[in-house]
Amino acid sequence: MKATVLVSGGAGFIGSHVTVELVQAGYDVVIADNMSNCDETNYRGVCSILGKELPFVRMDFCDKEAVRNLFAKYPIDAVIHFAAFKAVGESVTNPLKYYSNNLESFINLLEVAVEKGGCNVLFSSSATVYGEPEKLPVTEESPRMPATSSYGNTKQMCEDILRDSVAAYPGIKGIALRYFNPIGAHPSALIGELPRGVPNNLVPFITQTAAGIRECLSIFGDDYPTPDGTCQRDYIDIVDLAKAHVAAVTRMLKDKMEAGYEIFNVGTGRPVSVMELVKAFEKVNHLKLNYRIAPRRPGDVTAIWADPAKANEKLGWKAERSIEETLESAWAWEKHIRNIK
Ligand code: UDP
Repeated sequence: MKATVLVSGGAGFIGSHVTVELVQAGYDVVIADNMSNCDETNYRGVCSILGKELPFVRMDFCDKEAVRNLFAKYPIDAVIHFAAFKAVGESVTNPLKYYSNNLESFINLLEVAVEKGGCNVLFSSSATVYGEPEKLPVTEESPRMPATSSYGNTKQMCEDILRDSVAAYPGIKGIALRYFNPIGAHPSALIGELPRGVPNNLVPFITQTAAGIRECLSIFGDDYPTPDGTCQRDYIDIVDLAKAHVAAVTRMLKDKMEAGYEIFNVGTGRPVSVMELVKAFEKVNHLKLNYRIAPRRPGDVTAIWADPAKANEKLGWKAERSIEETLESAWAWEKHIRNIK
């Protein structure tokens, strides 16, 4: 019998790509989303890619009764939890919004999983937990640093909530995936990132600038102690990232875990600077971007990239798409949603 995976926040950027890969790997998927930060575009795209409608429940994980009903209705074997607020800046000005939503939804999910006698829980964490690392690349053993935003703090807190729940409640198993910088879109260009308002992240800002929606890209700082002076990140292709989720869920469901709670970095191991990324985008897509050097953005770390050896070895997963393919897919998606030929 096929296992059923619940994807909370499944209508969003990462959730929609993960849903596609799960179904293509043979899982049944139930999507749950309150649509607070997205429209139906990605859900529709997922259904077109897969050629079928998937079960979709519009609900809020802060509503515990709704979570109970969901678990009563579907035979859920594993949950991948994406549903959360994610704007770093807003989390600094409105921390309570972030603490109440991101923690309550996750706690509700775990409480209901405990009521049901257990569940496999995959939590979407972030490399933000490493702060400004002293040693690069970062391994899963690198120390977590005090978070610089409430958003970052909710990631650390949810990791701890999952770890402690696994230790306390029989039947709960957990994996936290720490993502580096997910970018790009599905090769079909039917699903991708759809930020509301002015994008905070680099690649959506680049594609919107190329599309003429933004006048000019600001490169935040060129005086960092890096080879070209701009910050370095580990940009991970969204489809590669999605496949890491399939590998992690399969590891849990096949009882291959070496401990009840495990953590994996999901990155390429390859640092790319902001300037290198901009130049690569221009080159593969045969266009010129309007950009300027701007002051540093407060809170940015100089450089971070993953040591993905643990995921490579234990999940049997490796990032495969080149940065060029990824940047091509990002532009193809932007053109698709803006009707640019
Ligand atoms: N960045 C930039 N201009 C922008 C947005 C981001 O120069 O309009 C830089 C940012 O300073 C960082 C990198 O791009 O060095 C990645 O930023 P992003 O917000 O995408 O991800 P983060 O690593 O901050 O989570």
